[in-house]
Amino acid sequence: MRTTILGRSAAGLFTLMLVLGGCGGSDPETAASAPAATVPPADLVLRGGKIATVDPELGEVEALAVTGHTITAVGSNDDIAAYVGPDTEVMELDGRLVIPGFIEGHGHYLSLGRAKQILDLNTVANWDEVVNMVAVAADQAEPGEWIFGRGWHQDKWDSVPEDAVDGVPRNDSLSAVSPDNPVLLGHASGHAAFANDAALAAAGIDADTDDPPGGTIVRTPEGEATGLLRETAQRLVDDAVDQYNERLTDEQQEALLRQRVQLAAEEALRHGVTSFHDAGADFATIDFFKQLEDEGNLPVRLYVMVRRQSNEEMAEMLPRYKMVAEGNDFLTVRSIKRQIDGALGAHGAWLLEPYEDLPDSTGLVLEPVEEIERTAEIAVEHGFQVNTHAIGTRANRETLDIYQRVWERTGVDGSELRWRVEHAQHIHPDDVPRFGELGVIAAMQGIHCTSDGPWIPTRLGEERTKETSYPWRDLIETGALIGNGTDVPVEPINAIASYYASVSRMMRTGEKFHPEQAMTRGEALRSYTINNAYMAFEEDIKGTLTPGKLADIVVLSQDILTIPEAQIPDTEVDMTFVGGKLAYAR
Ligand SMILES: [Zn+2]
Repeated sequence: MRTTILGRSAAGLFTLMLVLGGCGGSDPETAASAPAATVPPADLVLRGGKIATVDPELGEVEALAVTGHTITAVGSNDDIAAYVGPDTEVMELDGRLVIPGFIEGHGHYLSLGRAKQILDLNTVANWDEVVNMVAVAADQAEPGEWIFGRGWHQDKWDSVPEDAVDGVPRNDSLSAVSPDNPVLLGHASGHAAFANDAALAAAGIDADTDDPPGGTIVRTPEGEATGLLRETAQRLVDDAVDQYNERLTDEQQEALLRQRVQLAAEEALRHGVTSFHDAGADFATIDFFKQLEDEGNLPVRLYVMVRRQSNEEMAEMLPRYKMVAEGNDFLTVRSIKRQIDGALGAHGAWLLEPYEDLPDSTGLVLEPVEEIERTAEIAVEHGFQVNTHAIGTRANRETLDIYQRVWERTGVDGSELRWRVEHAQHIHPDDVPRFGELGVIAAMQGIHCTSDGPWIPTRLGEERTKETSYPWRDLIETGALIGNGTDVPVEPINAIASYYASVSRMMRTGEKFHPEQAMTRGEALRSYTINNAYMAFEEDIKGTLTPGKLADIVVLSQDILTIPEAQIPDTEVDMTFVGGKLAYAR
């Protein structure tokens, strides 16, 4: 952030040039001496704050003006006084920090909404608490009614039952408290689910059921299913759940979905998130989002990746689904999500060398390389971005290789395409500089680093952990662009928490996870704003508080750019504006 006097006065001039002089070419002298009365009054003025525009040309300013859904001017309080008319709403910032709206770079929008409709297991201290919550829900449920939950994570508990298998409990206690109600509890990572006996029975899973490709039905030494379904094994329950959901009428299903959209929006706006990269949705869900956008019922701007459609379907349908931002836009579609591996916690990340604590495994390949490669070709053909989930060292290398091969084969300049690696958590040092060289974006999540940090060495060993885990500094210094986010509902959609993780690498243990790789505060703020805008080809309309861009603005209770590091997590979002409208106030 630049705070010099020169920066401020230059910003003031630049603003006046924009407003008075039209688009460029005007002489600053003329602009500055033009009478203030000719400036049209703004709808909204925020003044008396520290406004971090994140625009290097503008630096920090004191005030800004908004007309309609865009920012019309930024500058000193005096500069912006000219925009206050009789109908202008003026808000005093009282010195608070203002930043561009946070852009969630990778999350699951409807899953976030759904997580608010079911049992929230994110903060349970141990397995007993999970069982208690399910017992209460089962007491209130009709026989046969399913009980859903999400967010448990055995590595965050204070204890694990003694008879646990691979660190995860067996489902006996869950089946005991809920014998007649199927129970399905999603892991926080989304890479596993836990079922009681009633749910396993409904899905037809028994001791004889084979593991599906890319998944595991975890079993006791005696060969009985424990209830834990890893990766693609979760899908074995899908049919039973679909069948159960068919009891709802179409209207009821739609009402449930609409509620999810609103619940997700409330969570996002409360945390200052004004745009959200959704990873991703099928065509039917995109149709639904489009309908909501047309009705004016999307409160947060969505950048939706196409997901769960075959290569054949995408080859045919992508042209019809390309939606590029225009005006006060709430839905953009121009990218595809693929997933090459699983998560490290569940030994699903695809590694170059075996796991430290599972020496006969190098992880799981979830979607075959050839299939992703074909997707990449289709993407080139239709001008879509490819965003591939890759967590392990092998997964990251393979993904970069796929991208390179396809660019060479199709003869395109890949550096212009802004293809992404989602998560990019563990990267071999040889592959780190390839991100910058190829122009591949590392769509990372700061909070994953500190959340997973305490147990990463168990999976990778100390040396490999240090060498490959979340190498933000190395990526930045070799020219890569890093995005930021939370992967909500894997982590809460708390941008402040992820920002804090990005600059501190402070874990809940009180220790820092290889802090030499931390981002600076300026880098972390950019990673959450302009970088994420760039990742969506939207840097011309959002990501900085530049006149002409969308008025997506957040007012914070504290100055996260200067306060002592340890105080950052106490920061509150005071106000969130989307397109110039106050969408949340604390
Ligand atoms: Zn995700």
